Amino acid sequence: MLVVHHPDEARHDPEHVFRMGRFLPQPDRADRYRLFLSEACKHASEVVEAPLCGTEPLLTVHDAGYVEFLQTVWQRWRAIPDAGPEVVPSVHPTQRMHRKPKDLLGELGWYSNSTSCPIGEGTYASALASAASAVHAADRLMADGGPAYALCRPPGHHAYRDLMSGVCFFNNAAIAARRLSQAMGRVALIDIDVHHGNGTQDIFWSDSNVFFASLHVDPDFGPPYYAGYADETGGDEARGLNLNKPLPVGTDDRAYLAAFDEVLASVARFAPKAIVVSAGLDASAYDPVQTFRLSNEAFGEISGRLAATGLPVLLVQEGGYLSPNLAACLGAFLGGFGG
Ligand SMILES: [Zn+2]
Repeated sequence: MLVVHHPDEARHDPEHVFRMGRFLPQPDRADRYRLFLSEACKHASEVVEAPLCGTEPLLTVHDAGYVEFLQTVWQRWRAIPDAGPEVVPSVHPTQRMHRKPKDLLGELGWYSNSTSCPIGEGTYASALASAASAVHAADRLMADGGPAYALCRPPGHHAYRDLMSGVCFFNNAAIAARRLSQAMGRVALIDIDVHHGNGTQDIFWSDSNVFFASLHVDPDFGPPYYAGYADETGGDEARGLNLNKPLPVGTDDRAYLAAFDEVLASVARFAPKAIVVSAGLDASAYDPVQTFRLSNEAFGEISGRLAATGLPVLLVQEGGYLSPNLAACLGAFLGGFGG
């Protein structure tokens, strides 16, 4: 297993998230990067520090104005007298509000949909390094055939073309899938994070070269809400190429793996040249989000079934939050590829 990462991914280290009327500890701490790297190295045939790639590959899925906003927002924020220690929006457009203003606070709300993406001094560098890891892992996958693990942090699957969302800034898996599909043709992107890959779904909604499938908690009962329903099947140009498997809170190994096998059958019918996996580990029974009840063995089963497809597989880290079990969960997942 090739492991690709970049140390700048630890520079983003937000303190809080605002939830249930309280400031709670932010789930995406920099320690996740160190923990994932330490565990992944035990399963690595090779560990590579990704070369930083600049913004060009990002612009294959992201809006140029959004990328420039993220590049410059910290400096703009620091220039505001009495600004807080982290960039956090306090206002958002919603239905019937369709104009982007020039003022920073208005623009910040335009490019985000909640307070879950606090921005600090190192955030842009981390988001860029995270995307660069996905880009380099994709390039190596095309050269070597994989499997490859892109240690991406912050994660990416909630990031839309022009929207930070759910602790995500750049959609690393989408950037990798777009890069692979431009070079190889058909690519499948399977999202196993417990939360719906809403940003990824939106990015590939009308792309007939990318089949997107997501297994996640039913959006009627869990975040990110608003999308991820089973009747969302793709735009006119890609009808049938978006597959959502909403599952109930408390889903266990058996029900999950049955749904996963259905996803793999659909992937096989699409006949992709490669598979990208949005590899969240927060469906684990031991994850702090406490949504599904998957054992570590189930993660080994998932990766074993991915390996059995015989296709080049690129794993892109998404969620999965600090707990005493997190390293073992990643170990079981990477171990499922058999060395
Ligand atoms: Zn998640």
